[in-house]
Amino acid sequence: MDGAALAARLREEIKQEVEELGQIGLATVLVGDDPASEVYIGLKHKAADAAGIEAVDHRLPATTSEDELVELVVELNDNDAIDGILVQTPLPDQIDEPRVMRTIEPMKDVDGLHPFNAGQLYLGRQTLVPATPLGVMQLLTEYRTPIAGTRAVVVGRSPLVGKPMAMLLLQSNATVTICHSRTEDLARHTLDADLLVAAVGLPGVITADMVKQGATVVDVGITRTEGGLVGDVDPNVADVAAFLTPVPGGVGPMTIAALLGNAVRAARYRSGKLAFPHI
Ligand code: NAP
Repeated sequence: MDGAALAARLREEIKQEVEELGQIGLATVLVGDDPASEVYIGLKHKAADAAGIEAVDHRLPATTSEDELVELVVELNDNDAIDGILVQTPLPDQIDEPRVMRTIEPMKDVDGLHPFNAGQLYLGRQTLVPATPLGVMQLLTEYRTPIAGTRAVVVGRSPLVGKPMAMLLLQSNATVTICHSRTEDLARHTLDADLLVAAVGLPGVITADMVKQGATVVDVGITRTEGGLVGDVDPNVADVAAFLTPVPGGVGPMTIAALLGNAVRAARYRSGKLAFPHI
């Protein structure tokens, strides 16, 4: 499944939407100098610029206190030129990540990590949903992957990827199993999957003997190695799966496109073109 091609098309569509809507402001906040986070922020800015979204890059030192970060988020909440706020995770240890996420104005929460938006997803009433699982759903739709009635297995249960992925699949009427580091006999579950999503961060954790013949396999994992980026799925899985996302060029570009889509959605909420639920 070619995420890069679909993402390029979606980004063109988003560019048109941005033109129609006028100015859209996206603020990103990066605390510290984690090299992977710097790369992701760089990619997000490049894509936002290309789509005509005005992205503002806030960089804070690794020693930033929780109160200082919360103060910046409150400023961004109050800034009328900003439609979307993204605080890059992971945050340094001295900062309570959930508190920061709770501080973001829900209507501007383009990563979908505020408990209001996460709760809406849990209740089956999507508002702003994390970009990675949203991008995966767009890719599955593009490839007309059957979801309703199928067995879906998600490996990973993080708030940003695994859990929202499972919720979206459940909402699309799959029968969903969520696996994690404490799952015993992972293969017993994955072998049952018509649709398998791996979001772990361990290269090769999914091998060909763990995949059902003809399954659709989505590889969310990204690990940097000396040989380049690798996913969670062993390349031999291509011999068994009917569909597989490559790394790179699969879920990564879809995440960026879905994030831009969320910025447009946030701008629509803020301008009243889309109704945001009353809190
Ligand atoms: P995370 O917060 O570290 O979560 C990893 C999950 O994998 C946890 O739920 C963990 O279980 C589970 N896990 C760990 N070891 C396992 C094992 N041996 N068997 C089964 N499950 C295991 O990571 P994340 O933020 O969800 O990201 C996951 C991966 O996706 C990373 O490689 C990340 O870089 C990548 N990612 C890619 C994109 C993209 O755009 N392509 C976007 C976001 C993330 P516990 O909960 O029990 O610890």
